[in-house]
Amino acid sequence: MSKEMTTKDGKPFDRTNLESLMKRRLFYTPAFDIYGGVSGLYDYGPPGCALTNAIVDIWRKHFVLKENMLEVDCTMLTPYEVLKTSGHVDKFADWMCKDPKTGEIFRADHLVEEVLEARLKGDKEARGIKVEEEKEDPKKKKKKVGKVAAVKLEDAVVQEYEEILAKIDNYNGEELGLLMKKYDIKNPATNGELEPPVAFNLMFQTTIGPSSNLPGYLRPETAQGQFLNFAKLLEFNQQSMPFASASIGKSFRNEISPRAGLLRVREFLMAEIEHFVDPEGGKKHPRFEEVKDVELELLNREIQLAGKTHVETTKIGKAVETGLVDNETLGYFLARIQLFLLRIGADPKKIRFRQHMANEMAHYAADCWDAELLTSYGWIECVGCADRSAYDLSVHMKKTGAQLVVREARKEPLKIEEWQVELDKKKFGPKFKKDGKAVEAAIEALSQDLREKLSLDLEKEGKITVEVKGVGDGQVEVPKELIAIEKRTRIENVREYIPNVIEPSFGIGRIVYSICEHNYWTRENDEARGVLSFPPTVAPTKVLIVPLSSHSDFKPFVRQVSDKLADIGVSSRVDDSGASIGKRYSRNDELGTPLGITIDFQSVKDNTFTLRDRDSTKQVRASLDEICKVISSLVDGSKQWSDVASRLPAFEGQEVD
Ligand code: AMP
Repeated sequence: MSKEMTTKDGKPFDRTNLESLMKRRLFYTPAFDIYGGVSGLYDYGPPGCALTNAIVDIWRKHFVLKENMLEVDCTMLTPYEVLKTSGHVDKFADWMCKDPKTGEIFRADHLVEEVLEARLKGDKEARGIKVEEEKEDPKKKKKKVGKVAAVKLEDAVVQEYEEILAKIDNYNGEELGLLMKKYDIKNPATNGELEPPVAFNLMFQTTIGPSSNLPGYLRPETAQGQFLNFAKLLEFNQQSMPFASASIGKSFRNEISPRAGLLRVREFLMAEIEHFVDPEGGKKHPRFEEVKDVELELLNREIQLAGKTHVETTKIGKAVETGLVDNETLGYFLARIQLFLLRIGADPKKIRFRQHMANEMAHYAADCWDAELLTSYGWIECVGCADRSAYDLSVHMKKTGAQLVVREARKEPLKIEEWQVELDKKKFGPKFKKDGKAVEAAIEALSQDLREKLSLDLEKEGKITVEVKGVGDGQVEVPKELIAIEKRTRIENVREYIPNVIEPSFGIGRIVYSICEHNYWTRENDEARGVLSFPPTVAPTKVLIVPLSSHSDFKPFVRQVSDKLADIGVSSRVDDSGASIGKRYSRNDELGTPLGITIDFQSVKDNTFTLRDRDSTKQVRASLDEICKVISSLVDGSKQWSDVASRLPAFEGQEVD
């Protein structure tokens, strides 16, 4: 995949350089490094934290603020009962297979994928098609599947492999086992047979409290906390529907084989929205009109099942109209997700939305689309957007009896004709004694059809017979003195329903990494000079302050500029090292700092400064007030550098590169 990857300016993308930059400049680093590290666990350093915070900040503005969502912060420790009810204890699993000889564990779908990809690569080589080699990172764990000999495959086999890869997420454990048998997939290191795939639950188990008798898990998603608070949030929202809750926090998954740096880790920051909507009336969204013309690249379920991967550019309005995307609310969020990804600097050519195939869908989902970003690791799911139907609220309500429902006054009262049962409670007790309650419950539970039939029995025979489990032989006779069954009209003024949930779920770490790939490039004729062209809104540090030299005349100006920037809430860093200005700027290009203020002798004379744009390296000159004003507008995203360049005088006096 990396051979196809290019940077924004069309040059080949070099992942090794980017990842070494990110580690060198402390965007992130393996956790517990000096103890040898633990795979799938990372710490973020200052630029990584600042970048993450900026992305989260924009997420809050784009979703929570703009749409009046109700943000909650729920606990990560979750009791067993909750996750048993939600289905995670039984179903939140991946398929793994073990080599009984070496004890090695493989994630079954990844193994099949890697082996088939390696064989396809070997086939290309045998056909004389150039395949770019991935550079090995000596510090990284070796890939499970190494290079495969250049062996030409039959055309039909190539096609079969490609079809399997297109729908690799759709296979269950048994099917993966069959594929491994059919294509002779074994332990790549030893060629040893593997055991058939078994389910491995991805949750980290723990116990809560000293007595160890309250089992629990670290949450695998933030969603459950939001569902459990549904009734309180509805109350907070003055019973008004639709509404959404939102939550940002860490989730934990015990991935079988963490890989690809920040992309598959065991602890990660999630930002999730649960939008609660009335299931009746087609799940319309009041603001759908605003996004209906947004064009998305859609890869639908049928195309994948046919073993293909081409996308269709479709306006979301059209996709909902044709039923490809199930409903307006789901469509609304897909469009809003794309707008968010573009706002934080995703490359528009590297975004697509892929629909889940039936088997791939989580146990709770009715329809699901992933926003995927293209990286050198392939298309990566960065945001899942699922229609979870009424699944979660229903199961929690059933388990706890809590009323996770919406009650709405009906505009028109509803007249319901129904068979109603009336019991003479005074006689009921003495007749059935201890079984009274069970008999009563069985009668209350009778369906309308049965009630109608029993009303005839009652008229004809003067008694009815009902089934009551656990009482006598299971058949109980009730004489007509104790019961009346009549057709009556009931007026219902209130409608009660369990809302459906549309859930956009963002993996912030994946987004952070993908945005770095999308914005990485190198200066012309200088491959070593990496630049991260983050939009000023997301850049970790917004302004670099560089005095021309360490001359003491500049010192008060450095203080003045950095104080002024701090006052307007803009982050800055001073680089007053002895390095050349060009070198100082290029060091900060690596951190993605979009703006630079140079303090020179002219500044000392007339209090003007130059402002430099990272991407074009162009500069303008103006007073500090003027410069701060434009910096504010660049950092809040309301202006672009081109607006600044056309308004303020260009400065070309001093070569900084
Ligand atoms: P899911 O609930 O599986 O749809 O996951 C929601 C989002 O969480 C995904 O779109 C990813 O962005 C992110 N995610 C899931 N698993 C991981 C992981 N192991 N490492 C990093 N991010 C993850």
